[in-house]
Amino acid sequence: MTDDSDGLRPDDAFTLLADRTRIKIIRALGDASTPGVPETLTFSELRRRADIAGSGRFNYHLKQLLGQFVEETDDGYRLSYPGVRVYQAMKAGTFTERVRIEPFELDADCHVCGAPQVAGYRDSMFRVRCGADDCDAVFYKYFCPPSSLAEREREGVLRAANEHIQREIASMATGVCPWCCGRMRARVLPPDAEMPQRDNPAIRNRVLHTCETCDGSLYTRLGGLLVRHPAVVSFFHDHAVDVTRRHVWTLPFAASDERTRVTGTDPWRATVRVDCGDDTLRIRLDDEPSVVEATRE
Ligand SMILES: [Zn+2]
Ligand SMILES: [Zn+2]
Repeated sequence: MTDDSDGLRPDDAFTLLADRTRIKIIRALGDASTPGVPETLTFSELRRRADIAGSGRFNYHLKQLLGQFVEETDDGYRLSYPGVRVYQAMKAGTFTERVRIEPFELDADCHVCGAPQVAGYRDSMFRVRCGADDCDAVFYKYFCPPSSLAEREREGVLRAANEHIQREIASMATGVCPWCCGRMRARVLPPDAEMPQRDNPAIRNRVLHTCETCDGSLYTRLGGLLVRHPAVVSFFHDHAVDVTRRHVWTLPFAASDERTRVTGTDPWRATVRVDCGDDTLRIRLDDEPSVVEATRE
């Protein structure tokens, strides 16, 4: 691992942003830009657009941002790459917006008891669980930025959440952190391991993914890691189905452990059964977990 000595520690970076004037400067530069092209503004134009009274105050706060979130060029000032990311997070409402979608019933059944599934969104978490009062099955509980779900029809909410979940978990499945691109390690946990949601009947064989760089971590099922594996995508494709467009919570092999069986402990092996039409694809996994074999029946 290399250390960029010019970089700021995360807490310093956040401290730097804890000021309304600086946020207004970043917002003005971002608003002035067209997608893909950071706009460069002169000192006076930037001050006018950021609507900041007092040249001295403006100058002081602009200087604080220089080198980290704002770059100075011969023509003026523009957002640096981290500045663009801060602007995007502000626009997406990632750190500020509170969006809530009350639970609504889905056209999909609980993989444990057969009752209808329900989806909802609160505290930045998209959830799909069983709608029955006496069933504790949770199929997905996943962080989604508020802007990805606000102001969409239900169908759009589901499509956005599905794409987001599938894409991020596919990235983890290849060992790349979806949040920072750092290296992710995965570990199959023993069934009796301490973990959140121990009593969820839709998950028994959990995989813990942890990023070495940003400390991000997530639990997944074994089957959940396979949705975008080439063997699975091509299996469904041969049946004229684009599995990447199927909502993950409706896929029994991905959303519950009913199709997953541990077949050996030394070496550790598990099989996930994937069905489409009358055909079956059996996927054998080791404890990495990676696919060791895929057989069609
Ligand atoms: Zn249920
Ligand atoms: Zn990471």
